[in-house]
Amino acid sequence: MKHKVTLIPGDGIGPEITRSTLKIIEAAGIEVEWEKFLVGADAFTKYGKYIPDDLMDSIRRTHVALKGPVTTPVGQGFASVNVALRKALGLYANFRPIKNLPGVKTRFENVDIVVVRENTEDLYSGIEHVVVPGVVECLKIITAEASTRIARFAFDYARKKNRKKISAIHKANIMKLSDGLFLDCVRKVAAIYPEIQYEEIIVDNACMQMVLNPEKYDVMLLENLYGDIVSDLGAGLVGGLGLVPGANLGEDCAVFESVHGSAPSIAGKNIANPTAMILTAVLMLQYLGENEKAARIAAAVERVYLEGVVRTQDLGGKFGTMEFTEAVQAHLVN
Ligand code: NAD
Repeated sequence: MKHKVTLIPGDGIGPEITRSTLKIIEAAGIEVEWEKFLVGADAFTKYGKYIPDDLMDSIRRTHVALKGPVTTPVGQGFASVNVALRKALGLYANFRPIKNLPGVKTRFENVDIVVVRENTEDLYSGIEHVVVPGVVECLKIITAEASTRIARFAFDYARKKNRKKISAIHKANIMKLSDGLFLDCVRKVAAIYPEIQYEEIIVDNACMQMVLNPEKYDVMLLENLYGDIVSDLGAGLVGGLGLVPGANLGEDCAVFESVHGSAPSIAGKNIANPTAMILTAVLMLQYLGENEKAARIAAAVERVYLEGVVRTQDLGGKFGTMEFTEAVQAHLVN
């Protein structure tokens, strides 16, 4: 079966890791008709829009997109197209499995955490204004609807995948109303799933516990900002951002993208580790029902790591994006 998928290579390291990922998908014998689009600064230069209308139409038609990272200027310039896409498409659940890869030695073993991050509100609403010069207000929006929806997602996922525990991460000791509402909603949902152990941990303590005993966590359920920070922390436990995949999931469509950003300092140099995006494609292929081929790709990546020869620089190796890709490819065609 030929799949139709929207493709957003992104910028920075995006195009090169996208190239790798497409090679791997092709080598696994999966037929995809890609509808390819620019976004962000590149799209603005060409079409005068950061998110072209045709791109939105494409995702609404294909229901599935594979996306590379997109740069967002810091402290000025245009608002994040990543956040805008998630909001416009109702991609309320950010799903990030963080797991040790066999053969990648880090200080931590037995890390197997799924980060479930609310993806549409919180401080990412981007509502900021200058009250008077020198005083800025940024609004944190938390709603019962979005908090309940993400909690349902996390508990449903845990039930389906036989995960044992959900840790809701919060700062409700300080943000009593907003994080308090989040917790209230999660508790109500937790009561419907008595077989799943439920705990609540304050975010600063949660981070400390993560670097002491990461194996203590199973599914972590967080608001948007905490989820973003904790995902990167989690990536650090298993070898870095070059390894961790992700998905933005909604009722009607899904945009698959890694945790990492556009890594401008290593862009265009054949340095970036394409593993995260290849494993992101594995998540996408599972979503498309290509379970057997998805498993073959994941196994091929694992074999390269187990062999321990071809490593990119982020993992202390000397090989490039393309060499790593070719090593994975070799395991798929043989
Ligand atoms: P980043 O994830 O791009 O990079 C952080 C560090 O990790 C850097 O040292 C980088 O070199 C390294 N790294 C990241 N991916 C790697 C890979 N595949 N292989 C090897 N090393 C890798 O985060 P940042 O520097 O904070 O952000 C850069 C830009 O990316 C910003 O404009 C930010 O807004 C954007 N961003 C986009 C997304 C997205 O598109 N979903 C996500 C996060 C950040």
